[in-house]
Amino acid sequence: MTNECGWIAQTGSSPARSSLQGSVKADWLIIGAGITGLSAAHSLAQLHPQARIVIVDRQRAAQGASARNSGFVVGHEHPTTDELIGNHGFAGYETDTAISRAASDEVRQRIARHGIDCDFRDAGYFFAVNDPGKLTDVEAKLATLRAVGASAEFLQGEQLTEKLGTRHYQAAIWCGRGNALLQPAKYVKGLLDALPESVTLFENTDITGLERLGEGRIRANGRAGSVEARQVIVCLNAFIPRSGIDHSATFPMELSASLTRPLSDEEFQAIGTVEPWGVLSTRPLGATVRLTPDRRVMIRNTAEYRSRDLTDSELLQRRQHHVLGLQRRFPFLGEQDIQYTWTGHLSASRSGQPYFGKVEEGVFAVAGCNGSGVARGTLWGRLLAELSSGASSPILESVMQRAQPGWLPPKPFLDIGAMLRMRLEAVRARTEI
Ligand SMILES: Cc1cc2nc3c(=O)[nH]c(=O)nc-3n(C[C@H](O)[C@H](O)[C@H](O)COP(=O)(O)OP(=O)(O)OC[C@H]3O[C@@H](n4cnc5c(N)ncnc54)[C@H](O)[C@@H]3O)c2cc1C
Repeated sequence: MTNECGWIAQTGSSPARSSLQGSVKADWLIIGAGITGLSAAHSLAQLHPQARIVIVDRQRAAQGASARNSGFVVGHEHPTTDELIGNHGFAGYETDTAISRAASDEVRQRIARHGIDCDFRDAGYFFAVNDPGKLTDVEAKLATLRAVGASAEFLQGEQLTEKLGTRHYQAAIWCGRGNALLQPAKYVKGLLDALPESVTLFENTDITGLERLGEGRIRANGRAGSVEARQVIVCLNAFIPRSGIDHSATFPMELSASLTRPLSDEEFQAIGTVEPWGVLSTRPLGATVRLTPDRRVMIRNTAEYRSRDLTDSELLQRRQHHVLGLQRRFPFLGEQDIQYTWTGHLSASRSGQPYFGKVEEGVFAVAGCNGSGVARGTLWGRLLAELSSGASSPILESVMQRAQPGWLPPKPFLDIGAMLRMRLEAVRARTEI
């Protein structure tokens, strides 16, 4: 089967750019042209209009995880028990929410500034469950979310069915004011298409390592050329070890998703002509589901820690899992209704916090988006541009202070520990796939 991202197929590609050949000199080099790298490129170009800025990507730009994700713009995370108001972790939750809200505002500003048409819906989304036991402490969660500035409402029974058009979900917290939905491939292509002329992009350019030269210059080596720059910003997310940064305490995950054909008029009427929506699970391995503005259903219900990419036959098995999830929600949909199935990589950390900051003189990096890199990546890109320019701000300080990804054991203990944890989480989420 073909690994084809439905969002990219609907969006199309920008004109191809050449790959890096020979030796190129720049003031700034950005490695990785996803949301984070492109956002960094825009901010650098704004801060330094005369500077030569180069950005490279090992494949087509704007077609990695940044185009393949579920399109949730995270302004408010579902609080854990420890983070509830009055508990020990609330102060940290407040700080993280301030960062996420700034990140979500950054997305709005980018969309407005560059006139990006990406089906942006500023109407919140749901933390919803099939098993009501998976949504605990509802009153405390509502109070916590409201205390940090969110709108939050509890829904169940008919009221929830009327919103979502399926009886699968038994209870939910709808959360708005910051949380939004967009079409990810359109958003990141918008960032790419709006790059100013001072930014040179090389595609299909695989950076294999960084080398320190004299006089503060750094050389990034590709297979057919190299870029020499004084400042390098590494925005590789799950692929950060490829730049030689191997101490980020983040690890890669591979996720898979499917997108159906649009629902017919009859099907749409049968589910109650509901507004487009997005549902996140309260469990890490529960399904993420959307009903899109063009009435398609997207489901992402696998996430795995892997050291090699899924093969086609493995992806086919993951698609069966998507079918199962679809039929639980909309029994009239089957495998024949799926138009696209794809995979994508994200970068995770044990604490849920990123690796972010100055790696060494002239080198800056981020990884560990933990599934909220649409908004956070947009903010991190700007903040890395500012940090590498010597600027400082309260939000930058706050991000740097929170950037503690946590300790990871060395391999093979990491592999064994991660595999066991994923199995446990899969059992805990089995009613929510
Ligand atoms: C299926 C899925 C669903 C998700 N859902 C959501 C969601 O709903 N909301 C949310 O906020 N986040 C979500 N995420 C996470 C989100 O997609 C990422 O956090 C975000 O895209 C990170 O952007 P980035 O620019 O940092 O990384 P990427 O988009 O991964 O960009 C990194 C780029 O580096 C390039 N690269 C790799 N190696 C090299 C090299 N050696 N040399 C040069 N270039 C290289 C890659 O080709 C890639 O384009 C999801 C992720 C997946 C996979």
